[in-house]
Amino acid sequence: MKFPILLPNIFNHPFTYESNIKLKIGDFVEVPFGKSKMIGVVWDEFEKNSNKKFKIKGIINKLDIPNLNEKTIKFLNWFAEYNIVPKGMALKLTLLSGKPIRLFNEKFYQDFNLKIKKDSIKLTPEQKKVLYQLNLSNKKFKVHVLQGITGSGKTIVYFEVLKKILMKGYQILILLPEIGLTSQFEKKFIEFFGFKPAIWHSGITKKNKEIIWSGIISEKIKIVIGARSSLFLPFKKLGLIIVDEEHDQSYKQDEGIMYNARDMAISRALFENIPVNLITAVPSIETYENIKKKKYQVSKLVKRYKDASLPHYEIIDLNKVKLEKQSWLSNDVIQKVNSHLEKKNQVLFFLNRRGFSPNVFCKKCLNKFSCPNCSVNLVYHKNKNNLLCHYCGFKASLNRDCIKKGNCDFIFSGPGVERISEEVKKKFPSKKIEIFSSDTMNKKNSKDKLEKIINNEIDILVGTQLISKGFHFPNLNCIVVVDIDLSSHGHDLRIAEKNLQLYHQLSGRAGRTGKPSIVYFQTYNNNTKMISDITNKNPGIFLDKEIEIRKQNNLPPFQRFISLILTGDNENKLEKEASQFKLFLQNKINGEILGPVSAPIFRLKRKYRVRLLIRGPKTLKLQNSLAIAIPKFKFSLGIKLSVDVDPISFN
Ligand code: ADP
Ligand code: ZN
Repeated sequence: MKFPILLPNIFNHPFTYESNIKLKIGDFVEVPFGKSKMIGVVWDEFEKNSNKKFKIKGIINKLDIPNLNEKTIKFLNWFAEYNIVPKGMALKLTLLSGKPIRLFNEKFYQDFNLKIKKDSIKLTPEQKKVLYQLNLSNKKFKVHVLQGITGSGKTIVYFEVLKKILMKGYQILILLPEIGLTSQFEKKFIEFFGFKPAIWHSGITKKNKEIIWSGIISEKIKIVIGARSSLFLPFKKLGLIIVDEEHDQSYKQDEGIMYNARDMAISRALFENIPVNLITAVPSIETYENIKKKKYQVSKLVKRYKDASLPHYEIIDLNKVKLEKQSWLSNDVIQKVNSHLEKKNQVLFFLNRRGFSPNVFCKKCLNKFSCPNCSVNLVYHKNKNNLLCHYCGFKASLNRDCIKKGNCDFIFSGPGVERISEEVKKKFPSKKIEIFSSDTMNKKNSKDKLEKIINNEIDILVGTQLISKGFHFPNLNCIVVVDIDLSSHGHDLRIAEKNLQLYHQLSGRAGRTGKPSIVYFQTYNNNTKMISDITNKNPGIFLDKEIEIRKQNNLPPFQRFISLILTGDNENKLEKEASQFKLFLQNKINGEILGPVSAPIFRLKRKYRVRLLIRGPKTLKLQNSLAIAIPKFKFSLGIKLSVDVDPISFN
């Protein structure tokens, strides 16, 4: 018999193989491909109108593991169509390394066995009410948003939902936006449930990945907490998907195969015909619009647990005070922080810039340090004692022969968190200080550091946006925003939404256990109206305004955007090619073509970058027309195209 076998590679269609084995859709098989062997999956359809005359090869064997559900296959087909990627590449997201997959012995799964603790937490009346509005009867596809202010107990409430659905024997997927959050989350999970969830992200070992993957397809693992890529795991009996912090733009994968994991989670739930819960304090614009249109249902938690109040705000106008040289903290702020420290409150200084200084130049020759591969400055990292490109990872040492005479004599202009931390050390010499950024927190010892912060062994934190993301620090009651800069740079249509989310999340870290808390905003910007809009307790005010702007300007979520990014070594050739590509696409696609424009960071990782932006109606016709047109254009040697559907980054 003949079978369509999809292979995890760049082809958009299955190949035909034959076999005497009885096979069903979703079975994993090993087949010859070229001179080697590959693992593939029995797909749901043969390649359409293929008249190629290949010699049909035989299937080597069927792997001894359960099949991939047909619903998963349908989802992968749709995923490929929506994001304009080959079906084979979508399948690749589901398969492990491409080597044969095996099942593991029961003993590997003992820790994951369902042993649900008896009730230990008593929900508040508000939480209880919301619980019954959630997707307890997980019968059908439905999107339900749980919108609750930071610290209102959203996690506790949906944990109760999970309990009920787990007891019915279903599998559950919880998506988190940031790997850094998983360890604290896992702890909370174990405290609540009394058993271990499977954790899935790019950082776990290959062996563990194999164990978890096999555990999921054989239904030995019931619950997975994972980053974006966990969306493609081979669940057999999925009953619910939770997207925690749904507003978080880290859900967008914008390298390699680009997709938005929040949106794809909703589609996966649709194909599985199960509910999905989106959890947030402030919904994304897309979700907010869907709530308004009544496409999504919403439940709200408006009280913080134990009636803790949200922080107060105070703006410190830096135009009115004189900062000392090489100083970024006003005397006013220092005094205020002192009184918080006296009360044993933890204090956070927030600045969204890694390293010591973003600008380094020589005072004799005035030459800057910029990246040889990217059109950006190198950032000086004092702790590592090097200069670093935050885009390609290029490193350089702080030594340079000066074209004037001798060595360059460097000036550092502007602060990063390391520099603020130095100033903080000077001002508060007896205090324990810790930097919280991806340079310090994505390491092995970050778990210990988190513990120390939670146990109030650290007095002062200096952090980047990483710290705004869902952490629960019980003693943090004072936040200083070193410089709130709300000026937009023009190229990022989501900048207002990003700022809203960032400052909302950030202030949500303070005052979580009931003590009064405060956020100080230092600023040179006189737009205090903007700050008060952003920090308003009711984010709807801001979101309504933003929705209006998006509507008037035909921006997402009212229209679909698709970025076509061309990269190449030669700037002139690239620009010409982009113009030709635009001409070629015109009249072939179901949308309007904007550009070409150079990307704001026009050179990245040694490649020049030019972008076309397609704007069109929100139907698959736009994607379909592009999928037909693009392969017909022959790009010159060395020029590469990447397609980004629903782009978030315009860098
Ligand atoms: P959110 O996810 O809304 O930010 P969490 O679920 O993390 O809030 O809850 C904030 C804190 O309050 C957590 O430490 C949580 O354990 C606690 N909490 C919330 N609701 C309850 C409850 N009903 N009983 C006991 N503790 C609760
Ligand atoms: Zn670089």
